[in-house]
Amino acid sequence: MKDYALIATAYNNEVRIYASQTTNLVNEARNIHQTLPTATAALGRFLTVSAMMALMYKDGESLTLQIKGDGPIGTMLVEAKGTGDVRGEIQNPNVYLRHEIEGKLDVGAAVGNGFLHVTKDLNMKQVFTSSTELVSGEIAEDFAQYFVKSEQTPTAVSLGVLVDPDQSVRASGGFIIQVLPGASEETINKLENTIYSVGPVSRFFDEGKSLEDLVSALSNDTAKFLEQKDVRYHCSCNKDGFAKSLSALDSETMDELIEDDGIEVVCHFCNKKYNFSKEELKEIKSNQK
Ligand code: ZN
Repeated sequence: MKDYALIATAYNNEVRIYASQTTNLVNEARNIHQTLPTATAALGRFLTVSAMMALMYKDGESLTLQIKGDGPIGTMLVEAKGTGDVRGEIQNPNVYLRHEIEGKLDVGAAVGNGFLHVTKDLNMKQVFTSSTELVSGEIAEDFAQYFVKSEQTPTAVSLGVLVDPDQSVRASGGFIIQVLPGASEETINKLENTIYSVGPVSRFFDEGKSLEDLVSALSNDTAKFLEQKDVRYHCSCNKDGFAKSLSALDSETMDELIEDDGIEVVCHFCNKKYNFSKEELKEIKSNQK
């Protein structure tokens, strides 16, 4: 089954809901980056929330998001497009930490303290970056805080990645709920109760319920569906892109690479390898200004 996201309004247009199911997307990320379970959960949550957040923007617009914590995972980077494509990288994929008491994957400890940086490329002359401090490193709360502080929008975020004993991703997804200006106290109270009763998203899906079920439950059956969009892990890298990056190197470094008899470049997002021969490097160098 394909991963997809739904956008809906609910409670008489007082609330907007973004929800997505991302089991395949997160499994793809796990295969590429060979993450251990806690790293899978952390990167999976981050990819899921980024994919939904990017749907707030147009097709040609994109977001670059970075979580820079002092935990063992290190830095994670995600690029998300308005089209529903996401790709990500993780500094240390070999993290398997569990809560001592609860036994759950301890994403907060794996990420640690630090910052969430969000850069928006809205096809204007400049890009916009804003940053907020991480609340817990659990990612959902960190994004909720980002929306409140940076975008002044009261927001609830829930993310869940359920990892099987064989380390594959069994269920993954999440939702972002934004309270629109003018929402009544009554709606906000109802919403809080509903979010509580829905419980963890990955469990919800694991019980066999659908994304439509989730949105209906969250909205107390008041949802009006606006849009459905596919989301996927997709890397758009190509050899020309890396050739461009190489052409930005200084000529001394280029000479060294040429002397080394060509190089192999690896994409950090998808692990695809690109070989540049001595001749190709020479040509790149000759085209430099
Ligand atoms: Zn790539």
